[in-house]
Amino acid sequence: MNVLVLNAGSSSLKFQIIATDLEQIKDEKDDRICRGEIESIGGEAILRIRYRAEPVRTLTAALHDMGAALDYLIRFLASDRSGIPEIKSSADVHAVGHRVVHGGELFKESTLIDDRVLKGIEDCIDLAPLHNPNNVKGIIAARDLLGQDVPQVAVFDTSFHQSLPPEAYLYALPYHLYRRHRIRRYGFHGTSHRYVAFRYRALRGFTREQTNIISFHLGNGCSAAAIKAGKSLDTSMGMTPLEGLVMGTRSGDLDPAIVGMIARKEAMSASEVETLLNTQSGLLGISGLTNDMRELLNELNEHDDRRVKLAVEIFCYRARKYLGAYLAGMGGADAVIFTGGIGENSPDVRARICASMEWAGLRLDLDKNQAMVGREGIISSNDSTLHAYAIPTDEELLIARDTVRVIRKMSHPS
Ligand code: AMP
Repeated sequence: MNVLVLNAGSSSLKFQIIATDLEQIKDEKDDRICRGEIESIGGEAILRIRYRAEPVRTLTAALHDMGAALDYLIRFLASDRSGIPEIKSSADVHAVGHRVVHGGELFKESTLIDDRVLKGIEDCIDLAPLHNPNNVKGIIAARDLLGQDVPQVAVFDTSFHQSLPPEAYLYALPYHLYRRHRIRRYGFHGTSHRYVAFRYRALRGFTREQTNIISFHLGNGCSAAAIKAGKSLDTSMGMTPLEGLVMGTRSGDLDPAIVGMIARKEAMSASEVETLLNTQSGLLGISGLTNDMRELLNELNEHDDRRVKLAVEIFCYRARKYLGAYLAGMGGADAVIFTGGIGENSPDVRARICASMEWAGLRLDLDKNQAMVGREGIISSNDSTLHAYAIPTDEELLIARDTVRVIRKMSHPS
């Protein structure tokens, strides 16, 4: 089954086509046909696409909205010019898997999209006003272009965390605010945390029930998850992806009274402060330089800049604090997993986070840590009792696999 995986943003559309089915999933023989992204939708858009291991191709076209972008993409894929023999016409796209950011409390697992489900995703716009409208546009555009007969599946960033117990998901606010406005912790990056938990248990030969880990997704957005017996028990992002760890441009945790203080002192509205916390804070805010960790580490090595150093140290200290908190919350764990652009590629950040964790039985092996860049494997020393792994994430693969599983289950309910 050729699954088109879509991740629709405000002006971008990331995509992959993965050929897979139940047998291929079992044998880990999923076939990645092509991947790419359309950027700057709404103006002169740029399509970058890579077929298998061939060089990236770049095309430009004026694409005014998501519908036009998807139409352009599918026409291109199906044309001779694309040089993709697997897709001869739009009929060779057999299913679509969508990354959907917020599923609220409605969606506890990946779901086949019908009118009722689409309405449910629209109902969650309130909770994710910046993200869910783009996902809805992507779903409607795909349905318009491919027709009702091509099944579409929604895979939610939040659904893995629907297993959180109330003591982890409720804020200490008047309870009616939860009832009236659904204000609670939802957590995000669920597909990524679920994927690395799955890879970890494959590496160790464990069952889901034996999987007790703390995973760190450290990219532009960052979150930690406490995963006990294969289920999410707690996670650092909250009602929105602003809470928790320090991120590229997001502050993560802070005293809520600071919001009112900034509003008063800087004559800003509440929503302006929210924007500041989302877009001008985190690594960028502290360093005053960039939100990019790789650039910060280079700068630190070359110039030992004080604010750059602070940004990196605050980032790593916050992550270590969560590591300690989740060890307590879970009653101990077997392993710590690092993923995301920073987690997968930066031995330096991993070493800083794991520094002085010997008390918990965690010591990194310097050589293994240094060597594990963009690859999957153990990075802790042989005598560690709390192990550490770097595991590259693959959300698209999980979305394609969920799409197949949901469709096959609908056609052969057990
Ligand atoms: P992502 O959102 O998962 O693509 O991650 C983006 C972040 O990963 C950016 O802050 C990058 O600077 C960071 N990153 C990528 N490669 C490296 C690297 N080799 N060392 C440190 N950070 C990196």
